[in-house]
Amino acid sequence: MNVVIIGSGYVGLVSGACFAEFGANVHCVDNDLEKINQLRKGDIPIYEPGLQELVNRNLKNNCLSFHESLDDVLNDADLVFIAVGTPTRRGDGHADLKYVYEVAEEIAKLIQGDLVVVNKSTVPIGTARKVKEIITKINPRASIEVASNPEFLREGSAIEDFMRPDRIVLGVEGEASEKLLKELYRPLNLIETPIITTSLETAELIKYASNAFLATKISFINELSLLAEKTGADIHGVAKGMGLDKRIGNKFLHVGPGYGGSCFPKDTLALIKMAEDYGATSKIINSVVDVNNAQKLRMIEKIKDALGGSISGKRIAVLGLTFKPETDDMRDSPSLSIIPSLIEQDADVIAHDPAGIDEAKKLLPEKVQFSNSINETIREADALIIMTEWNQYRGLNLKNIKEIMRGNTFIDLRNVYEKEALTDEGFNYFCIGR
Ligand code: NAD
Repeated sequence: MNVVIIGSGYVGLVSGACFAEFGANVHCVDNDLEKINQLRKGDIPIYEPGLQELVNRNLKNNCLSFHESLDDVLNDADLVFIAVGTPTRRGDGHADLKYVYEVAEEIAKLIQGDLVVVNKSTVPIGTARKVKEIITKINPRASIEVASNPEFLREGSAIEDFMRPDRIVLGVEGEASEKLLKELYRPLNLIETPIITTSLETAELIKYASNAFLATKISFINELSLLAEKTGADIHGVAKGMGLDKRIGNKFLHVGPGYGGSCFPKDTLALIKMAEDYGATSKIINSVVDVNNAQKLRMIEKIKDALGGSISGKRIAVLGLTFKPETDDMRDSPSLSIIPSLIEQDADVIAHDPAGIDEAKKLLPEKVQFSNSINETIREADALIIMTEWNQYRGLNLKNIKEIMRGNTFIDLRNVYEKEALTDEGFNYFCIGR
């Protein structure tokens, strides 16, 4: 089967490499020429464990190729996936669909035979039908079906998530798309992955509903962490006690500095806006976003309090910048809200991250310093903050860092450590909800 994927970012590249692994002949397209040239050489522009090997293997087998334009590849395609970004539209919070619509126009101009166009990008309800409208308006003779196949992979474990998903959602409008998509996903059907076939609209809403629900769990536990702090309850015990109830589940009940990343912040906002457009305002999701914003602000206050009320002139070492471990993705990371505020209050910030520094340099104030060495980051620091729970930070040599730090304030925004271990070493330890 010939598959074209338009957009070779986190989702497009992982999907392309995995479909090639399933045995499809995959052409990945991106209008970022530098990215395509890198990929042709087998260099991976993002940090995603296991992706390098998968891409290289399929490049070698000629099952995967990279292109800067659709021109050479569209005609032989059975299925075309749209996997371009759908960021927040500037100014109003809606999903910005300009990249999706641009791609629809490009497809329309080139289409000749029958084609199935599948949206993998996260898009508001009605987008698949709009894509069809755009294509048939430009090219009335185009014989196409559209489909919606939202993606649920998580950065950092994207390949495993793609190869062993909890479910596959296929929103379809006709038999041709359903048949082709089921054939493409046959290797997953063989391992008994549930495949749900729905209408286009249902598939589009499933994606937003799933992300908003996970964000709700995070905001729920983050909000309760304050009550735990004020009353002496332990939020970990609360999460465990709740999570063992199978109706609740233990995932996404871990406190932290607020959710971030390329999906939850923009998808909750887009869902709020979409619901408003249809007169179906969501009070719950509005609160989820408010709680998340408040959580990030609360972290800034926590850092200030830990340092005695003022951080001016204090040297603060930050370990972790990305929104979660095992990715270089900095989009909407809590560090992007917290660190600029520390700088504004005249703190001296030096940061370490195993994969995110290049991207962080573009997004954080110039005054932030960066280091590739954990020891150099914490040297002479008054306070150390664990912002992201990379494995490298889980087993820090506490004796050693106590010796090279100037102060003894240890602020653990991911609750990686136990208080006793830190106080035994002479640290003043702060965490969330305990
Ligand atoms: P990304 O920014 O990493 O990649 C998008 C790519 O599309 C970029 O490389 C860009 O150059 C390319 N592009 C834009 N316009 C193009 C055009 N006209 N022709 C060819 N290429 C074009 O984005 P992403 O993180 O892969 O997300 C893609 C979609 O998948 C979004 O809707 C997102 O919400 C959704 N999604 C993302 C994740 C995730 O973890 N990143 C998970 C599930 C779903």
